[in-house]
Amino acid sequence: MAGSLEAILRPRTLAVIGVSSRPDSLSGRLLGNLFAGGYTGAVYPVNPKVPAVRSFRCYPSLKAIPDTPDLAVVMVPRDAVPATVDECLEIGVGGIVVITAGFREGGEAGAEIERRVLARVRAAGVRMIGPNCMGLINTDPAVRMDASFTPAPALPGSVAFASHSGALGVAMLEAAREVGLGFSHFVSLGNGADVDINDLLEVWERHDPTRVIVLYLESLPEPARFLALARRIGRAKPIVVYKGGRTAAGQRAASSHTGALAAGDTAVDALLRQAGVLRAGTLEELFDLALALSAAPAPRGNRVAVVTNAGGPAIAATDALSDHGLAVASLLPATERALRQFLPAEAAVANPVDMLPSATPDNFRAAVELALADEGVDAVLTITVTPIMVTPLEVAHGIASAKPSAEKPVLSVFMTYPRFFSDARSIPGIPALFRYPEAAVAALAGLVRRGGRALAPARDEVPIAMARSSTIERALRRGPGYLPPSEAFELLGEAGIPVAPWRAVAGRAELPAAASAVGYPVVLKAFGEAIVHKSEVGAVAVGLADREALEREAEAMEARLAAAGVRADGFLLQAHVCGGRETILGVTRDPAVGALVMLGLGGVAVEVWKDVTFRVAPLVASDADAMLGELRGGRLLGAFRGRPAGDIAALKDALVRLSALAAAHPEIAECDVNPLLVLDEGRGCVAVDARVRVEA
Ligand code: ADP
Ligand code: MG
Repeated sequence: MAGSLEAILRPRTLAVIGVSSRPDSLSGRLLGNLFAGGYTGAVYPVNPKVPAVRSFRCYPSLKAIPDTPDLAVVMVPRDAVPATVDECLEIGVGGIVVITAGFREGGEAGAEIERRVLARVRAAGVRMIGPNCMGLINTDPAVRMDASFTPAPALPGSVAFASHSGALGVAMLEAAREVGLGFSHFVSLGNGADVDINDLLEVWERHDPTRVIVLYLESLPEPARFLALARRIGRAKPIVVYKGGRTAAGQRAASSHTGALAAGDTAVDALLRQAGVLRAGTLEELFDLALALSAAPAPRGNRVAVVTNAGGPAIAATDALSDHGLAVASLLPATERALRQFLPAEAAVANPVDMLPSATPDNFRAAVELALADEGVDAVLTITVTPIMVTPLEVAHGIASAKPSAEKPVLSVFMTYPRFFSDARSIPGIPALFRYPEAAVAALAGLVRRGGRALAPARDEVPIAMARSSTIERALRRGPGYLPPSEAFELLGEAGIPVAPWRAVAGRAELPAAASAVGYPVVLKAFGEAIVHKSEVGAVAVGLADREALEREAEAMEARLAAAGVRADGFLLQAHVCGGRETILGVTRDPAVGALVMLGLGGVAVEVWKDVTFRVAPLVASDADAMLGELRGGRLLGAFRGRPAGDIAALKDALVRLSALAAAHPEIAECDVNPLLVLDEGRGCVAVDARVRVEA
């Protein structure tokens, strides 16, 4: 599939259909860019009414071209697009880019035409980009194709960039030029009717000049394919994603904790985390991450040395470091002594190294080299405010001449006049340049996250497979709805998730026998259709030590529920589990990504603390590890205040199993295991409450 994009990305000949004679038109811009970019192939403009445009001869029709173009760039009015595409397919073009807008994005009439065009290119086995896009760029010296509307040509480089928004993509290319960020490919995907990000990921996986992949997304097409591709490709090439619309997603069923907590952009966020991509929170961060990743190696650790000629911005930088969980490195005494040798007495040689406004370009060079050589330093940030004796450009030359490290990144902040950036970008060896310390630190944090990943095992983990559950089959025959607690526990048992010994009984008379079977102390719960959160209506009594306590509590509970008008179907009796730490495992469904699995600190207050994290089912072991790492209160599950650690391995196993169960049963619409009690290390974990809802 990827190979068939060759004609689009590396065409030797290219037709532009629907050109105008006016150079200031869109087509005029595109032809101008092809010309100015030095496209190495042949260009055939097509327009029956125009004899020539710019210095290109115009052809009256596609068929009049003496050659079969590899790529057809379609710019005719919307209603003429289907016929033009047909003609392209007839003469046998290799690929099509439809620039024209007014399709799906413009309403049902356009959507209908888009579907028709898509059906034809699919039937012909020809790939199409667009419609409604701003073209594409390939900076490969053998191709040099700028078939876009960018006002400033893209610099060649190692970043491949795909954008669902054409205008934003073009704006980024323009801004990138200024700081020297270069691109291998740029593709404006438009509506992504045929070719979308996943196809490009496959191309870029095998495209040597591409070292960093940047995606601006407005939707996440084929999420499962994206997940698999990004996990694999991301090992070798960092993928940075901006996905907007963080607050747009609709409400989910909220009768479960999991459903209520999975609001907004949870599913997309879970998928992007799982895919191992770096998610930029802002457009600026997307840009800065691309810049840092393309210019600097990912460090092995998070200890940062700051080398500056001004104290103020260095304080801002150290604050930002701590906000991002990065450390201010402690320099070795030998490093500090070496700095002292050439810096004035008033300079600070401890990190941040404040060399004062008099610092020379050579001071910067020497300080950067010393910091890079220090074993306690993983990354270096330089900060320069416009110096007094020398120019910022001279300082930039000094920093660029420092001997680089293959493992430790250097990022440079220059708080100076705007033109500096376009002047400095061509200095050989110049680090990634930033205007503000906070932006540089945010980018550095991305590099550190990336470095942490690169050290992770490089093999594919295979999720466990789970057989169909007979409990689910039985429930489905009965119809959609909640499983009674007995079936919910049986289901967990089938999935291999431990459950506290239990008995379900219809009436009070059967309780003593059931209690003897599970063993005192016991927990008494009433259950029924009308009871959602049992403890809310007084339907849970824990720690009942003997028969007398049990019978007394059963009578009281019955009276309580009757008084509240709550009908119970029966009692559930459970062994009382002592000393467990309460966690919640859950499943909910997202229309786009499928089963979402939640892990959180559980119990009845889960929605107060909201200390939860999500992934897409099925999980592999490293997903479970990552989820645990994301809980703010995760330390409560470890050794804490004299208490031994909880059985984390058992917790992770239960989580992976629940995810496999969810993946094998799309009929499980919602599930809360709350709490799953995590016992001390070596003692496992045990579920004491489960709610499961099935749908046909
Ligand atoms: P609810 O429907 O309110 O969620 P639960 O069955 O989860 O009812 O019980 C509420 C709380 O009671 C749990 O969060 C837990 O703290 C405690 N609990 C319930 N069952 C047991 C048990 N078998 N052993 C120990 N504590 C329990
Ligand atoms: Mg509960």
